[in-house]
Amino acid sequence: MKTALITGITGQDGAYLARLLLSRGYRVDGIIRRASTFNTDRIDALYHDPHDPDVRMFLHYGDLTDGTSLRRIVETVQPDEVYNLAAQSHVKVSFDQPEYTADVVFTGTLRVLEALRDYSAVSGKAVKIYQAGSSEMFGAAPAPQNESTPFHPRSPYAASKAGGDRLAYAYWCTYGLPVVVTRCSNNYGPRQYPEKLVPLFVTNAIDDEPLPVYGNGLNRRDWLHVDDHCDALLTLLTFPGIEGETFNIGAQHELDVLTITGTLLELLGKPASLIRHVEDRPGHDRRYAVDSSKLTRVTGWTPRIPFADGIRGTVEWFQQNTAWWRPIKQGEFRAYYERMYGQRKVLKAVRG
Ligand code: NAP
Repeated sequence: MKTALITGITGQDGAYLARLLLSRGYRVDGIIRRASTFNTDRIDALYHDPHDPDVRMFLHYGDLTDGTSLRRIVETVQPDEVYNLAAQSHVKVSFDQPEYTADVVFTGTLRVLEALRDYSAVSGKAVKIYQAGSSEMFGAAPAPQNESTPFHPRSPYAASKAGGDRLAYAYWCTYGLPVVVTRCSNNYGPRQYPEKLVPLFVTNAIDDEPLPVYGNGLNRRDWLHVDDHCDALLTLLTFPGIEGETFNIGAQHELDVLTITGTLLELLGKPASLIRHVEDRPGHDRRYAVDSSKLTRVTGWTPRIPFADGIRGTVEWFQQNTAWWRPIKQGEFRAYYERMYGQRKVLKAVRG
């Protein structure tokens, strides 16, 4: 039985990936922070999967800011594959906490790579490493963005992701660690933390609260269902001879924020009057459009979930699972929301 170690297993992607790996017969080990508060139910859902009575999943306390804990976990787990998905993944939080963001996303990646370099040297095992980059790193670069497009990151989060991405590649070039780098476009799907656009707008609309659209709302993103993202990761996992390569993962389904907001309101039967155009955020990139044709060409992977189906299923999930997101939107989240949106000027007129 192969063993996969996942950093960020309590995250949206990590929990979905764990589920997929378990269904393929893997043993899955995950790193979980002692400070984890919100997302442990994603993991509980895995434990209570009625179709998988054998426990093949194990959690270990560790933190990307603490290299000692990472070394201990790698030595204990002795993984065959590692998915480095952990990140302080919120762009807006990175404005408030740039140093912490860089410590987790950039230096944290370095710590993971170092732990694996040490383990590989001692064990002689070539542990495959999947490093999650992001389309955010392309920033203001002209779209569409392929694997050779130069980075143009414009937030502390995006710059830290760009650094982690290249560090992983450097460990392949310098030390021969078998690294594969992926750069994914915007995910959506059930159980996404309500800081992100889709869950924030869906849950606000359910509660008849305003939907704060930055600026004119014409910023474009490529929307990929989390299932398709994890399916692409699994495809790469089973594909030989791609060490040292980088792959974009996208849906090739671009929509601007106003259009996706309109779709969400329509699905929920809520009025457009809930939309509030608010002062734009700094360094807000106009367009990410990752070109994932290399992934399709090399592996044959294509996204399987049509946007119309994926977004309907997502909206329904949030309608049916208010007990999941309502507690998250209290306390700390409320204070964060006030900081991010409460003090923003509401725009009376917006231009394209
Ligand atoms: P997410 O839901 O925000 O999950 C992030 C995960 O990282 C959580 O498990 C979190 O644990 C963990 N984490 C945060 N700080 C940590 C630390 N100091 N030490 C250890 N773990 C820590 O993110 P996601 O949406 O699943 O994204 C997964 C990866 O894909 C990230 O690297 C992200 O940058 C990348 N990505 C995501 C998207 C997207 O649209 N979702 C797009 C492109 C790339 P807690 O539960 O304790 O907070």
